[in-house]
Amino acid sequence: MTESYDIAIVGGGPAGCSAGVFCSRAGLDTVVVTNDRSTLRKSAFVENYLGFPLGIEPRALLELVETHAREAGCSLVDGTVKSAETDGNGIVLHLGERSILAERILAASWSDSTYLNELGVRTETESSGSVSVVQTDERGETNVDDVYAAGRLTDTHHQAIVNAGDGARVALEIIEELDTEFYNDWIALEGYYESYDREVPVGVKEIDHDERRNRIERATDFMSSFFETDRSE
Ligand SMILES: Cc1cc2nc3c(=O)[nH]c(=O)nc-3n(C[C@H](O)[C@H](O)[C@H](O)COP(=O)(O)OP(=O)(O)OC[C@H]3O[C@@H](n4cnc5c(N)ncnc54)[C@H](O)[C@@H]3O)c2cc1C
Repeated sequence: MTESYDIAIVGGGPAGCSAGVFCSRAGLDTVVVTNDRSTLRKSAFVENYLGFPLGIEPRALLELVETHAREAGCSLVDGTVKSAETDGNGIVLHLGERSILAERILAASWSDSTYLNELGVRTETESSGSVSVVQTDERGETNVDDVYAAGRLTDTHHQAIVNAGDGARVALEIIEELDTEFYNDWIALEGYYESYDREVPVGVKEIDHDERRNRIERATDFMSSFFETDRSE
């Protein structure tokens, strides 16, 4: 069975989920394929991820980033990408019995790039170790058209917030390439742009005060109940 998407992201760590949030919010039909072995699981406690002043348990952080990707509209598929090939319609990812066809792929699968070999994606040895990392241009695209990479797999720093930011950055490069108009993923209060005599940019959603209050309440309820669960074991 082959499912098809606008973009398939391989890896559900901070880089892949962050890219997924931006791609989905831009209206791209997005899948994140992951075998759920983020490096972050090896951390005892994360104290340098902005927004958690006293730190956060790493599995809780991973659960939050995955939930965020899902809420944004990504499909999350549990599996390992074993190989990839191009066909006339796009790039096909093979996960054993299941195949996924996508117009573009984004590899965020630290520390596995072997499935990209058949596509001819260029790799090199990381600067401080022995893992093969993927070479990209400044926009995150590899030497193969429509194949992008982000996060630790591209030899970025070994910190989750940097890798999450990198996933977002590469996703925005892809989005901007698809739509050359100014894209901005923001929520603004109704009338904000009008007050500056400007059109509402692509990707900006305007909401009124009631809707703002609803969203704050929903988000606060979610976070309160999320952190009621003890994840210390
Ligand atoms: C011991 C230790 C402690 C750490 N502590 C901290 C810390 O305190 N703070 C901090 O900021 N950073 C810390 N890090 C680093 C942090 O974990 C990484 O920087 C971050 O997780 C990298 O994000 P990423 O999304 O690029 O890769 P990962 O988080 O590693 O995610 C990659 C994902 O790709 C999936 N994947 C791989 N291959 C495939 C495949 N073929 N098919 C499908 N899925 C695949 C993996 O299962 C995983 O889900 C620590 C790392 C270690 C080892």
